[in-house]
Amino acid sequence: MNCIFCKIIAGEIPSTILGANDEAIAIADLNPMAPTHVLVMPRTHAANFAAYLRERPEGLGALFALAAEIGERCGDGYRFVVNTGSDGGQTVEHLHVHVLGGRAMQWPPG
Ligand code: 5GP
Ligand code: ZN
Repeated sequence: MNCIFCKIIAGEIPSTILGANDEAIAIADLNPMAPTHVLVMPRTHAANFAAYLRERPEGLGALFALAAEIGERCGDGYRFVVNTGSDGGQTVEHLHVHVLGGRAMQWPPG
């Protein structure tokens, strides 16, 4: 499968790994939008959140546990974002949770 995040998980494409557990890994985003911008993704391929829930519901807790671990490192709060589909702004079709922090976030989001 030609999935860039599967290649990162397999070690075929280099990345900066910032955390991991049995279910998921956390890598630094290549194009950060905040002082902390980390992508937390399941080790097994799932195109989006709904597919992951269908295919691997037992992984959800560990996926978000890793995201929370990264977010808690920010100290003053953080935001999770899961872009989904074209209106949602998803560009890589392997589920990933953006963990953003290190600055005040705006609301509503764009
Ligand atoms: P999406 O637009 O799907 O919500 O998020 C995809 C994210 O993946 C973007 O923030 C983009 O900067 C990041 N990204 C795309 N390719 C790579 C890559 O090869 N390595 C890393 N670390 N991040 C990537
Ligand atoms: Zn993948």
